[in-house]
Amino acid sequence: MAPRVQSIEIFKFGGASLADTAAMSQALDIIALPRKTQLVAVVSAIAGVTDALLALSLTAKQGDVHAVDGDLALLHRRHREIVTSIVNRLRVRKTVLQSVAADFEELRTLLHGVASLKELTLRTRDFIVARGEQLSARLVVAGLMSRGIEAEYVEASELIHTDGVFGGAFPVLPATDRAIRNRLRPLLRKRRVAVVPGFVGGAPDGAVVTLGRGGSDLTATVLGRALRAVRITLWKDVPGLMTTDPRVVPNARIVPQLNLREAAELAYYGAKVLHPRALIPLTRVAVPVFVRPFADPTAPGTEISTRRTLRRYPVKALSLIREQALVTVAGNGMLGVPGIAARTFAALHHAGISVALISQASSEHSICLSVPAARADDAKRALDQAFATELTRRELEGISVTRDVAMLAVVGLGMAGVPGIAARLFRALSVANVNIVAIAQGSSELNISVVVNESSAVAAARAAHDAFQLDKIGGGGMRDEQRVDVVLLGVGQIGREFMRMVPRARVRVKPTVVALIDRSGFIFNADGITARQLSAYADAKAAGRSLSSFDEAIAATAPEAVAWIARHALARPVLIDLTADETIPTLRAALTAGMDIVLANKRPLSAPLAQVASLRALATTHNKRILHETTVGAGLPVMDSYAKLVQTGDRVLKIEGCTSGTLGFLLTEIGKGRPFSAALVDAMSRGFTEPDPRDDLSGMDVARKALILARMMGFTGELSDVRVESLVPRTMQSLPRVTFLSRLATQDAAWADRQALADQQGRALRYVLEATARRVTVGLRAVPLSHPLAGLRGTDNQIVFTTDRYREHPLVITGPGAGPAVTAAGVLNDLLQLAAT
Ligand code: ADP
Ligand code: ASP
Ligand code: MG
Repeated sequence: MAPRVQSIEIFKFGGASLADTAAMSQALDIIALPRKTQLVAVVSAIAGVTDALLALSLTAKQGDVHAVDGDLALLHRRHREIVTSIVNRLRVRKTVLQSVAADFEELRTLLHGVASLKELTLRTRDFIVARGEQLSARLVVAGLMSRGIEAEYVEASELIHTDGVFGGAFPVLPATDRAIRNRLRPLLRKRRVAVVPGFVGGAPDGAVVTLGRGGSDLTATVLGRALRAVRITLWKDVPGLMTTDPRVVPNARIVPQLNLREAAELAYYGAKVLHPRALIPLTRVAVPVFVRPFADPTAPGTEISTRRTLRRYPVKALSLIREQALVTVAGNGMLGVPGIAARTFAALHHAGISVALISQASSEHSICLSVPAARADDAKRALDQAFATELTRRELEGISVTRDVAMLAVVGLGMAGVPGIAARLFRALSVANVNIVAIAQGSSELNISVVVNESSAVAAARAAHDAFQLDKIGGGGMRDEQRVDVVLLGVGQIGREFMRMVPRARVRVKPTVVALIDRSGFIFNADGITARQLSAYADAKAAGRSLSSFDEAIAATAPEAVAWIARHALARPVLIDLTADETIPTLRAALTAGMDIVLANKRPLSAPLAQVASLRALATTHNKRILHETTVGAGLPVMDSYAKLVQTGDRVLKIEGCTSGTLGFLLTEIGKGRPFSAALVDAMSRGFTEPDPRDDLSGMDVARKALILARMMGFTGELSDVRVESLVPRTMQSLPRVTFLSRLATQDAAWADRQALADQQGRALRYVLEATARRVTVGLRAVPLSHPLAGLRGTDNQIVFTTDRYREHPLVITGPGAGPAVTAAGVLNDLLQLAAT
């Protein structure tokens, strides 16, 4: 008796699930698990291969044969390497390597053809791109055979009969149903695993077509439908279908179950997790779909089925389509012009532009549609042409484009029965200061969509997510990872020290550096820049390279970089300013984007008072903090002590101190009897000074620190109100650096005299800051030997607080107050303090 076909199930492995050898073996493990059902495996191309093939076809179109060969060789190697490690049986390995080589050879010939004609038809492009899935399917078959599992490759273009629209074909379902049953049933009866390339179909004339990006999902549902599978499982790199994209809203949750209509609506409205039309084949055939985490095959993931659960949640999920442009076709005459919507759609389709959404306002005076921002101009051109007659006859007013918008759709079946859902959404958006550009579609039964500015897209998604309490939907969170994301501004000495220190921090809330910014541009990775990369960037910067010299960098000014970075979902982001630049605009951008701030840079807080006050006010409005321990005394707990004094009800009357390591070193050396010139040259050779030591000797650095301290006590003056005694004689202030350095010895006698006088009086020379709420001075003082400052050695700093409580015996803080290592440690400490609270 021929064995009956038992129940059948479909597994689909997405690109991420086949990224490398490890992932591929995991996929094979999952297929190999014992089960009662017969299996059809649908596979995507290996991660990144589709993009690579698309890029290759463009390179070929430009005629660059050389680049084509190079890129092809890389792709070929990637596939070969996976084969070598997953296929142990030598005979199987040899056969599959040969067929892979033949596949690449065919691609090469084709691409050379494209290169010599410099023409790339959609038909050719589909043929090229489909190769990604065909290759990975061959690899999976070989991997299974090598494990002793009977498997067979099935050509997708012979199974999936489509309408033949290149780049986005849709299956003709009845013909496809028949083809699938005829071809697969006999195979499954033999208990073989059928392996089908996803994303690929056949045109009516037999040509290879693709089903649009993400099309493997659709292949899986089409197969599940035809074979009346018991279930379809889509193995992905997420724990399930989530309330929204976890990369945008970090507290996105797994939705344990969605109704088929809800999931279809979400997919159609751009939730990237499913191909937009993936669920259409299942409209009348009740096959449940499961979205499950590839990394954890025991986890249940999300069930998409005809059930209705979670009735307490009127909205179950939301999707955000980024970087769109809104095209509006408007005109009073529209009522009279037949088929505007259809013609609009056709014109755009013809131009190869995908329309995320079309909606006709209830007045019928306009049609709004959203297209990818990059295609906005093409869309306008196509529509101007399509409606040329109506435009000249003024039946249509015109076609207008609004750029930089995003579309947010909230979806849930329960919306229909619950009043005020739209109001709740609009209120949440308005509280979050999100301006609604347009309501793309009136509230339908299970979806409300709004168009917002691209710059507020993330804020909008988060506000809506909160408003409908989607973080409580159950099913567990994405990853309960406690992290704080760091945006590092300035990759100088301190920055590089910090980059080496962060990965070693042993703390509960782990700081993750997600971005580096220097004057040339920035590098960003939402998942975090690895310790190894950080150290490589630090080395390169130390060798004089700028960040923008790296391929992955983006050239931008610092405020632009911050704005760009802020558009991504970051976990409790903190901007750390380690520059010595005027960074207030950047800091404002960061606060506005919801980042806390850590400063080692003194300039922002010693800027004109109005600017500082406005910066602090901005922080308060956004409920963000600015910590700046290292602006005075590097890692010494100066600000921290000040805060504790004030918090416990004490009043700080005066702050004195020596806060220049450079001048401290210089003056203690002179105190030991060394000539000024020799001491200064020594300080320079040890790297204690700025390149031009006059920057230290002028006292301006100390003046900034004094101003910051004084302002904490209520001083309302400016930097120009600080009385600064410069140690550079007026005659030497404007000399060229070299001349200045060559004349250092002319100062030796004067310094020796000063020192002798101090010695006579039993005093020590110190460069001292004195700050109260009324008066700030910095300059050279001869302090009694009994004074704490007299005891300072070398580059050590000292800060002395005189307060109500510490009046007789001031509170003294002494220690190393300069150097990249202690400063970086102080910065890290500020960061951890932000993370902890
Ligand atoms: P596949 O590997 O099967 O092709 P995709 O990459 O197409 O999978 O889909 C998974 C990605 O979709 C995730 O990495 C996630 O960032 C994104 N995504 C967008 N919206 C959602 C959502 N609501 N739930 C889960 N993932 C989502
Ligand atoms: N490989 C195709 C893509 O990247 C199809 C898919 O993965 O579903 O879009
Ligand atoms: Mg996909």
